[in-house]
Amino acid sequence: MSNTHPPVELDAVIVGAGFAGIYQLYSLRRIGLSARVLEAGEGVGGTWFWNRYPGARCDVESLDYSYSFSEELQQEWDWKERYAPQPDILRYINHVVDRFDLRRDIQLNARVTSAIFDETLDRWLVTTEGGDRFSARYCIMATGCLSIPQAPTFSGLDVFKGRWYHSANWPHEGVDFSGQRVGLIGTGSSGVQMTPEIAQRAKHLTVFQRTANYSVPAQNEPITPEQLAEVKANYGARRERALETHTGHFLIANDKSAMEVSEEERRKEFEFRWKGAGGGFRMLRAFNDLMVNKQSNDKAAEFVRSKIRATVKDPATAELLCPKEDLPFGTKRLCVDTDYYQTFNRDNVALVDVKTDPLVEATPGGLRTQSGQEYPLDIIVFATGFDAMTGALKSIDVRGVGGQHLRDKWEHGPRTYLGLAVAGFPNLFILAGPGSPSVLSNMVHSIELHVNWLTQCLQDARAKGARRIEAQQQAEDGWVQHVNEVADRTLYPTANSWYMGSNMPGKPRVFMPYVAGVPAYRKIVNEVAADGYRGFEMA
Ligand code: NAP
Repeated sequence: MSNTHPPVELDAVIVGAGFAGIYQLYSLRRIGLSARVLEAGEGVGGTWFWNRYPGARCDVESLDYSYSFSEELQQEWDWKERYAPQPDILRYINHVVDRFDLRRDIQLNARVTSAIFDETLDRWLVTTEGGDRFSARYCIMATGCLSIPQAPTFSGLDVFKGRWYHSANWPHEGVDFSGQRVGLIGTGSSGVQMTPEIAQRAKHLTVFQRTANYSVPAQNEPITPEQLAEVKANYGARRERALETHTGHFLIANDKSAMEVSEEERRKEFEFRWKGAGGGFRMLRAFNDLMVNKQSNDKAAEFVRSKIRATVKDPATAELLCPKEDLPFGTKRLCVDTDYYQTFNRDNVALVDVKTDPLVEATPGGLRTQSGQEYPLDIIVFATGFDAMTGALKSIDVRGVGGQHLRDKWEHGPRTYLGLAVAGFPNLFILAGPGSPSVLSNMVHSIELHVNWLTQCLQDARAKGARRIEAQQQAEDGWVQHVNEVADRTLYPTANSWYMGSNMPGKPRVFMPYVAGVPAYRKIVNEVAADGYRGFEMA
């Protein structure tokens, strides 16, 4: 197809074939709308297509991190591990696509470069890098929150004689680390998951750490047939209950403050979360005020530090791995690991502090720091994160009413109504984007919530004969203010995290997700719909 042809006419274009785009396609088909998913990758799966680094697995339990929309699907799929590894999740997504015959409406290798609203037609003109054009009533952005990888911009990678990779753009054939001297930059979730895996295979691993973050053990284990059967017997009820929890998955919330219990009880509770209750994010809900009360938070932080000191044999390395007191526990995305801290007891692993002596360039033989220290390397791995939450949307030339660019509108941070729509951008919707619980929740359930809401909204618009659905400016302003106010009541904005955009030089410092929790959010969006889509104009 070339751009001399008229654009393909559709009811909806969906950008991205991850969990969100796939379920949105399924849902639109169900209500009889024509839709096509445009996907940049050469396969479906979004995050799980790109992030193939060794050790990649989900930090939300597989029994929850899966679609709930089809009872048959959830009955027939058998998760094998408590935390599914990336290949299993990718297999699952492909299974869903085939099972519901979705592939025929998914166009791969189709990176969307622009989406321009035509005010006379009330339609979006969507164009791909390859020049394909689509005219659609609705443009639905299922572009993911962590899909634009960021590598440091330091010089020298062109002269580096070895190989280098980013965690989010991992070669499909894998990387052979055997006999290699590997440098890993970044100690967020990706770096923490990769460290033990690379250490086992490489001749030597140097981990370059700028900020020590908190990591808790996943306590991953196989799911037994009995456990699986028990969950499947009441899966629907489990899903419903999950939506009633703050994060949309089970973390057994404690309703006590960390400050109202004795030292002994506190320690017991933390130990229970660390190990007995099954590890992972459960630690975040050990007490009800960890994210709002610094005193309570300090107790959790100190507990993790005590675990690091007890695990890592070399005291200097242990101290370096301990997060500093000015970083409250959980305010940067908590890492969930398998044997991360233990790995630093290996003879072939070294930890280097690049906060005090930053990396400044790659050289033909490795990496060099500001002080001139050189690290000879054969492979450099960047686990340096993403332009989170807004990166993917800002990488597309999105223009709304009056030719306004979304990039310009979001110059000082993302502005949405309910995290779903943007004033001045009619018929454009964002799934699990900024201003919604999104990355602070079980993404799959938050995606389902958004897709179900939006699908109903489009059905209602059709019944009304509306051609245009647009968030009102006042509603958007109110929502942005609310999102900020709620975040400001917590400790989250005190950290330099990607939630705040502060991992990217020059990015506005705004807390992007909605922190009030899934039940509160669900109640609001349902009320908005019940109230005739309050805050939207439908015409
Ligand atoms: P990240 O959390 O943003 O971590 C990036 C790391 O790279 C940080 O330690 C950062 O240090 C470091 N870094 C960046 N630029 C650097 C530089 N120039 N020199 C030295 N260090 C540098 O990214 P991520 O680990 O890819 O994780 C991103 C998010 O993806 C996670 O928070 C999570 O939501 C998701 N994820 C989930 C899983 C899972 O489900 N288990 C796995 C992977 C990722 P600073 O902290 O100092 O900036």
